[in-house]
Amino acid sequence: MKVGIMTWHEYENYGSVLQLYAMSEVLKAYGQDPLIINYHARKPGKNLGEDYSLKSIVKRINARFFDKIYVSEKKTELYKKFLQEKLVFTEPCNTLSELERLNEQFDCFVCGSDQIWAPSCFDPHYFLDFVDDPNRMFSYAPSIGLPKINNEYVKERVKELASRFVYLSTREKCGSDIISQLIENPVETVLDPTLLISSEEWRALINDSDDYNEPYMLVYLLGNNRKYWKLIKSAARKLKIKIKVIPVYSKDCKNTYSIQENVGPVEFLKYINNASYICTDSFHGTIFSILFKKKFCTFKRFKQKDPNNQNSRIYSILSEVGLINNIYTEKNTIDGILSAKIDYKSVEEKLEHKILESREFIYNAIHKIDLYNNDNTKKHLNNINYNLSLCCGCGVCLASCKFSAIDIRKDEEGFYKAYINEDNCVSCGKCREVCPYIRTKTTKCEKGHLYSYKDSSKEVLLKSSSGGAAFALSCIGISEGYAIAGAAFDNKNIVKHIFINDISELNRIQGSKYLQSDFSNISLQLKKYKNSIIFGTPCQIAGIRNICDEKKCVLVDLVCHGVPSYNLYESYNNFLSEEYGIKSEKINTVFRYKKKGWRKIHLYSSDGEKNICLSQDKDPFFLLFEHGVCYSKACFECPWREKSAADIRIGDYWGNRFRNDNTGVSMVLSLTDKGLEFVSKLKNSNRGTINETNIKDYITVQQLANVSEPLFRKEIIAKLKSGERLENIIRKYIIKYIIIGKAYKIVDSIRYIAKKNKYN
Ligand SMILES: Cc1cc2nc3c(=O)[nH]c(=O)nc-3n(C[C@H](O)[C@H](O)[C@H](O)COP(=O)(O)OP(=O)(O)OC[C@H]3O[C@@H](n4cnc5c(N)ncnc54)[C@H](O)[C@@H]3O)c2cc1C
Ligand code: SF4
Ligand code: SF4
Ligand code: SF4
Repeated sequence: MKVGIMTWHEYENYGSVLQLYAMSEVLKAYGQDPLIINYHARKPGKNLGEDYSLKSIVKRINARFFDKIYVSEKKTELYKKFLQEKLVFTEPCNTLSELERLNEQFDCFVCGSDQIWAPSCFDPHYFLDFVDDPNRMFSYAPSIGLPKINNEYVKERVKELASRFVYLSTREKCGSDIISQLIENPVETVLDPTLLISSEEWRALINDSDDYNEPYMLVYLLGNNRKYWKLIKSAARKLKIKIKVIPVYSKDCKNTYSIQENVGPVEFLKYINNASYICTDSFHGTIFSILFKKKFCTFKRFKQKDPNNQNSRIYSILSEVGLINNIYTEKNTIDGILSAKIDYKSVEEKLEHKILESREFIYNAIHKIDLYNNDNTKKHLNNINYNLSLCCGCGVCLASCKFSAIDIRKDEEGFYKAYINEDNCVSCGKCREVCPYIRTKTTKCEKGHLYSYKDSSKEVLLKSSSGGAAFALSCIGISEGYAIAGAAFDNKNIVKHIFINDISELNRIQGSKYLQSDFSNISLQLKKYKNSIIFGTPCQIAGIRNICDEKKCVLVDLVCHGVPSYNLYESYNNFLSEEYGIKSEKINTVFRYKKKGWRKIHLYSSDGEKNICLSQDKDPFFLLFEHGVCYSKACFECPWREKSAADIRIGDYWGNRFRNDNTGVSMVLSLTDKGLEFVSKLKNSNRGTINETNIKDYITVQQLANVSEPLFRKEIIAKLKSGERLENIIRKYIIKYIIIGKAYKIVDSIRYIAKKNKYN
């Protein structure tokens, strides 16, 4: 079977890489064809119980400025070389839709080992949420790392995700206990995959030509405990043995004991294999000491009270093999531990039993999955419901369906989405062919040419969100016979895309509406127009690219970090009505009210009689939008952040270059030849000022990667629907982030001033 392995693979951590290698080797030994899923781990999402205590802040400052992790290009190369030579990877799969496509390629999936289930970096993809059929997946030794899951949101999600598994194991007993309390299915405790490979097999990786006649004590400490260092030095003196240190922090390199050559995964094995003694606080440092039958002392890396205490995983394995006394304590001294003889025969016997059990778990899981696959030839309707859980509501599938089987409407969460009437569907697959989540033709943004644009008309600047690039391009287009598609409010206060071919009407689509626009009209009407310029969010443009005649269309997308739920907008309208007496039915909102400036965003709402203008730090709609807590699910899995299907991308020219501008500058990124052609038209039109700038401005200022979905997103959206007051929601969920954001802004300003003074 083709087996996809989902685990960490990019961290320069010996244990991570070696456990991955071991898992792949074990599967190969069972006749399987393993591939590593090339997924880039996300930054943790909001509300993972981040610790903002003084102690934690000091720790972070220390890590940033004083205890910097040792990095070296050569070491990175060694890691890369190991991964490339020993393992096979899939194409990069960084979003849910890319992961979902793997269902077609693989017969079986496994997640684990390593701490991929650690609550502090919770990511549902490491629970194989993208696998369509749970009967085809198993977990092997993922570690939770902690004795309990404190965060209730994480606990709830783990419960939901873990209960999908039929074959479920974790690496530590306490991990299995935690999961068992949450779900009904059995949970087994299995060994880390590194232990499933014999020491001979590991030694075969070491090409050892060095002369190691002189004995040494190897030190590999991930924690930063000065007391341990003192003890180790004193023990080495007594044993009259040299110390060799695998550097972890930059400061370790200054140490005369430090190994000066670069240590990659193979060298790590080599240094352990050749050491006379090993002192470590690392889980895998301990494992390989056992595998190579060394005299070793393991230190506790975490204090018992530390909420992130991960010592349990070391206790678990050492008690399993009867070596719990190899852990240093006040009573159990390092000298005593290192001089005691280890009965490796008994260790081996204990391990052997556990290895058999662990191998049996893997064998059973793959055997049963193989049988299942043979009995279940996949039957599915070839439409967008198959293996596709995301939808941005672009509506291009609607225009492609000749059987009226698709409908685009708002879902419970307040987002446009495609729905299929399975009775009408003939499974022709046309909707899948055009859906941008299944097929997307893109250019990397870093390959584009970047420009700044500022229109010379004050009126255009006032009504446009940034420098009026969209308006200028639209005017050029209309003068050349193009119809312009953009987003406008309809009379029911809903944002819809419309076509315009008269300059005097362009103001209807001018300015950003921070809501999801109903775009389905565009694909339905596109054929009516000979040529058109279409503005939209990157997902809408990626959709229309799949169905348009490229010769007749110019596609322009917007830098987009996400669209909020209509539930938020409805709550906001109620808020304006209650607080300021603005009549909901007549409300008109300008999301970028430029009379108050550009850099500080203001929202202006009016019903024709009463009006109110609120700044970005006071306006509840903007606060919830900006903090990304009620975006569409699709926005956390957006494939168009660092690439685009458009000819041109436009956005605000944030960053320092136009720091003192207060009327607005647009970023214009041309991505194709047609994009370049329209940028030259913009230059030749003399409508405004356009200058080529450095692409680095785009890369440093705009958001290029997805952030994880906040764990409370669903809860907030439900509260918005139930009419909960916006101020309560802000107080409960995001006030902490508002304060931190302000602190960052202050630091940013200080840095900018300091930098400026330095160069003056
Ligand atoms: C939801 C959303 C999020 C955004 N996020 C960012 C960001 O994080 N960083 C950044 O630099 N810029 C962002 N922008 C883009 C920015 O607000 C401006 O649209 C952009 O700078 C172009 O401004 P302009 O002055 O050239 O044109 P404008 O006249 O302001 O308008 C640009 C075009 O966008 C279209 N448009 C407006 N609202 C929508 C909508 N809801 N859906 C689809 N099309 C729409 C209009 O029809 C118009 O043609 C976002 C825009 C939207 C709609
Ligand atoms: S598969 Fe064909 S018939 Fe079914 S919804 Fe898609 S386009 Fe329509
Ligand atoms: S084509 Fe667009 S609307 Fe249809 S399923 Fe795909 S993303 Fe959704
Ligand atoms: S973030 Fe991505 S998915 Fe969300 S609206 Fe923007 S382009 Fe579409």
